[in-house]
Amino acid sequence: MNNDLKPVMEGIFEAGPSPQLIGAICPECQQKFFPKPMVCPQCLGEVQDIKLSPVGKLYTYAILRTKAMYKLPQPYAVGWVDLEADGLRIFTLLDPEKIEDLDFGKKVFLRVGPIGVDNNGEACLRYYFTTQDGGDK
Ligand SMILES: [Zn+2]
Repeated sequence: MNNDLKPVMEGIFEAGPSPQLIGAICPECQQKFFPKPMVCPQCLGEVQDIKLSPVGKLYTYAILRTKAMYKLPQPYAVGWVDLEADGLRIFTLLDPEKIEDLDFGKKVFLRVGPIGVDNNGEACLRYYFTTQDGGDK
């Protein structure tokens, strides 16, 4: 992995061999969020950063074969992943190399890697979920 690459957005994940998404929790409502909101949408209180579970279950997904924005691979897949440990359903990119493996209810694992470009057209790191457990791909 190219360590010089910047994340597509600051503060939404930690890269490295055991990546984690950075979400938020409202100490009042105990509700978790991803991405982190400015304030809790339920009580407008301040939220705190928390690290989210790197393992989820694929709730639903779509394979997109149209011309991709941000130089994403073609085709690419996006979906909603349930982070059951956090009680959250999040929207995410899915591993473009594992499109054939995608299936509803499948266990998926968080990765961070070089995919596409950022708003300035520079190569960057993105988070995605893959069907392949462990190892450093
Ligand atoms: Zn709240």
